Parts: sequence; structure tokens; C-alpha cells
Amino acid sequence: MDLGAFAPLWFMGMTEIKKYKLYINGQWEEAASGKTFGTINPYTGEVWAEIAEGDEEDVDRAVRAARKAFESPDWKRLTPTERGNLLRKLGDLVKDHAERLAQIETRDNGKLIREMLIQTRLIPQWCYYYAGWADKIMGEVIPLEKPNIFNYTLREPLGVVGAIVPWNSPLLLTFWKMAPALATGNTIVIKPSEHTSASLLELVPLIEQAGFPPGVVNVVTGYGETAGAALTRHHLVNKIAFTGGVETGKLVAKNAANHLARVSLELGGKSPNIVFPDANLDNAVNGIIAGIFAASGQTCIAGSRLFLHEKIHQEVLERLIDKASKIKMGDPSKMETEMGPIALKEQLDKIKKYVEIGLQEGAKLVYGGEQPTEPELRKGWFFKPTIFTGVQNHMRIAQEEIFGPVLSVLTFRDEEEVIRLANDTPYGLGAGIWTQDIQRAHRVAREIQAGTVWINTYRNISFASPFGGYKNSGYGRENGPEVLREYTQVKSVWVELSGTVPDPFVMR
Ligand code: NDP
Repeated sequence: MDLGAFAPLWFMGMTEIKKYKLYINGQWEEAASGKTFGTINPYTGEVWAEIAEGDEEDVDRAVRAARKAFESPDWKRLTPTERGNLLRKLGDLVKDHAERLAQIETRDNGKLIREMLIQTRLIPQWCYYYAGWADKIMGEVIPLEKPNIFNYTLREPLGVVGAIVPWNSPLLLTFWKMAPALATGNTIVIKPSEHTSASLLELVPLIEQAGFPPGVVNVVTGYGETAGAALTRHHLVNKIAFTGGVETGKLVAKNAANHLARVSLELGGKSPNIVFPDANLDNAVNGIIAGIFAASGQTCIAGSRLFLHEKIHQEVLERLIDKASKIKMGDPSKMETEMGPIALKEQLDKIKKYVEIGLQEGAKLVYGGEQPTEPELRKGWFFKPTIFTGVQNHMRIAQEEIFGPVLSVLTFRDEEEVIRLANDTPYGLGAGIWTQDIQRAHRVAREIQAGTVWINTYRNISFASPFGGYKNSGYGRENGPEVLREYTQVKSVWVELSGTVPDPFVMR
């Protein structure tokens, strides 16, 4: 019996290194090249698992398996209700295994166990929501101007979906793609980030147990530039659902354009969090802290540009520094830890570089800006919560996504000015507005160029509400009913009712 994902390879000291293979057509397989790579625990800096390094050849096998499964009666002939039932079952299984999956994610990306647990416990909701949609995706009868024609539409799946997800919320972002893709009858090949492949591979046995036929879900692990790029280039892939950085997103869109695959891009952000002087400041401070320091700032929706009205600037700043100084950093697998390490060494270096850039640009560092020195934190890739004031909107630390716990604080005098400044960025993913003035709240929400606007809250997300970007933050939407269009195409069916088709060469 092939234990696949559960097979330990060898022992290094006391540490068990796990070996994970590719999952193609219902089978665990080595990469065609035989190559593997290590995945690192950012808290210890140690390799804890060995992952198969898939490449173009493996992607080709997986895509062909997914295409075959798409056409196979085992999948194609399932009723939408039966498809929904499989997803519902998968949701139940994830619920039972939520803790184990969360622990794996924490080990892989260093995010807090309490955050990853929230995510893995939420994932079943995506399964149940799209299971419910599976048999409610309908065509329409069109009231044509031609009385002898009955015209109706069918909403059909696209075929093979290629899903590419980043390391910050690996399973949750996979389900944002996989649940609607399967509910609508597509098959899927998933390329997780090289840094966080393990949780998806540990999910595979649950997918099998739920009863999805072989080939419907395939996982090719490997590097973005090789396995990821090969997936975007493959002519049998009908849609690419991508979450990641802007520059990678552009490459993905270019590759997909060559074979006219559909693309949805969930990219980065530099989201403004705007505090008006009449706001409830206790709530606003909590929202600001959660917006930038949760997940050590490694979220696309980080509220990394804080706009404080000049009247409350000093007060809010003092409160933020006080709160930031009390954040408990440490072992992400402990429930009491409030901020974990940065997921990757490259990411830590990038954050350090941006702190230098901020100082060179003339911004004032009022808190953090360095790695903590406590012995417990030295081994991991930790970075202190960091706050810059005196930031001007043209500065790079106000314009570029840092993807770390770095808050750039700007001030404003009035509504018009803050709308102009908030929109003056290439990104448009999220925005927060803090005010008690209901008219102003809705007025500003309309003016902000972003896919999500939160009023007196921040970082709220649901399976039922559309999520996506304006401008460089991408296109296409995930979640809610909106995403169902991204995974389906419409067929118009024409039926002649009179029983007589006139001779086209006889003049009438
Ligand atoms: P990347 O764009 O580097 O990577 C994202 C995914 O793309 C990974 O699976 C990566 O694989 C893969 N990839 C890399 N190069 C290619 C390529 N040439 N062709 C195809 N796939 C490729 O982003 P990060 O991993 O750095 O993730 C952080 C970014 O993701 C941030 O910009 C963040 O804002 C964004 N993000 C957006 C979200 C949203 O919903 N809008 C949510 C979360 C993050 P590998 O890791 O193996 O290189």
C-alpha cells in the first residue's frame, strides 16, 4: 500500500522528515525528474519535509488526467446535487481534521495557530455554501422576438482549471478556487506555493474519502517559475485562478493569453485605513492593529497606509505605539502568541530593505524597525511591529506592498483630500473607513477605488460576499455567487417549433 503523503522518509536526529509526492489521477507519484526540495519551518529555520519537485512533464500528466476526468462519465454524469453532496462531505471531513491541518500550516508558514485554526475551521463553510449552489446554477429561457423559436441557455463548466496559490493562507485560498470550480463541474490542477505545499497534500486523502473520482483534483508541487509557469502555458487548461503578486500575475495573464484561457487574478494591495476625527477611537485602534499586525502583516488586505485626521493624529499614534509594544511575539503554535515570525527569509530581507528605504525617504521611525533580540526569538525570522510617521504619499513605503508588519502613517485635513490620497496608489484591494457620520461613511465608500470597503470594521471576509481587486490588485472575483460566472460558460440553444424550415433559395 502506497502511503503517499503519510510516508516518513528518514530520521534526522530527533526530527522526522516527511516525504510528499505529487498527486495525479488519484495516484501518488514521484516527479518525473525524481527531484525534491525541502520545506522549512520559519520558527526553527529547519527543514521538516521533503516535497516532490514537479515540472512541465508532471504538469502535462496532471492536466491530461484532469481533462480525461472532465470528460469521464464518473464526473460528467454526476448530477449537480451529487456534486454538491461530495463537497458537503469534504466540508465535514475538513471540519474533523481542522486542527491537524492548521498545525501543518503553522509549521510551514509560521502564522499563528489561532489564525490558521480560524481559517481551517472556516473552510467547511466554503464547501457547504458552494455545495448549496451546485444544483442552483441555472440557464434562462429567452423571450425571443421570433415566435417559432424556443431559445434557452445552459450554464456549463469550462473544463480544466489551473489554480495557483501563495503561502500566506494556503488551504483557505485553495478552497476559494476549488469549491466553486468543483461545484460547477470543472476539474482542477492545483500548484501550491513551494513554501507551503504540505497542508494541501495532507488534504488529498480527505478528497479521496469524500468520493471525488480520480483525476478530478490533482496536485503538482514545485517551483513557481517551472511548475507554475507550465500550468499557465498548458493549452488544455481552460482557466487559471491565481492569487499572488502583481508581477507574477502579469506573467500568468500573458501565458494564459497565448491559448486564450480565462484568468482571474487576486493580487496585492496597499490598502488605506482612514480615521476621521469623530470615529470611536477604541474600535479604530483595534482595527488598525488587526489590519497591519495580524499575520505579521503578510496579508494582501493589510491596512498598511493609515490616514489619520490631523486632530486625532497624536492621540491615535500614542495608542498604537502602546499597543504595538505589548504585542506578544513567539512560538506561533502556542495559543497565547499574538505575532509569529515572517514566513520566508527573502520576505524578512524585503521588510528590512523597506525600513531602510523609509528612513532614506525621510519618514520617522517611531516604533520597531528591527528584529527582536530576545533569545527565544533569535532563531526564527521575527520582525518587530513597525510604525513610520511623517510619511508622504509619494514615498515608496506609502506606495509599494511590503507584505510585513510595517505601518505607514499619513495625516489629512478633510474628506476631499483623504479620498484623493487614498486613491493615489496603483492598488485597489481593500479600504477601511472609521467614522460615526453615516452619510460621510457611505459617501467615502463610494469614492474609494477598491474591491472591498470596510466601515468601522476591518479584515472581514465571507464565503458569501465577492472579493477581489480594482486596478493593479487584479480582476475577477472570488466568493459569493459572483465567482460562479468565473467557472462557467453560457450556451444558447435554439429550437424550431413550427416544424417547417423554409427553403433559403425561395423568395418570400
Ligand atoms: P508570488 O506571486 O511570488 O507567488 C504566488 C504563487 O505563484 C505561488 O504559488 C508561486 O509559486 C507561483 N508562481 C511564482 N512564479 C510563477 C510563475 N512565473 N508562473 C506561475 N506561477 C508562479 O507571490 P507570493 O508568494 O510572494 O505571495 C504574496 C503575494 O500574494 C502578495 O503580493 C499578496 O498581496 C498576494 N496575495 C493576494 C491575495 C488576494 O486575494 N488578493 C491574498 C494573498 C496574497 P512559488 O511560491 O512556488 O514560487
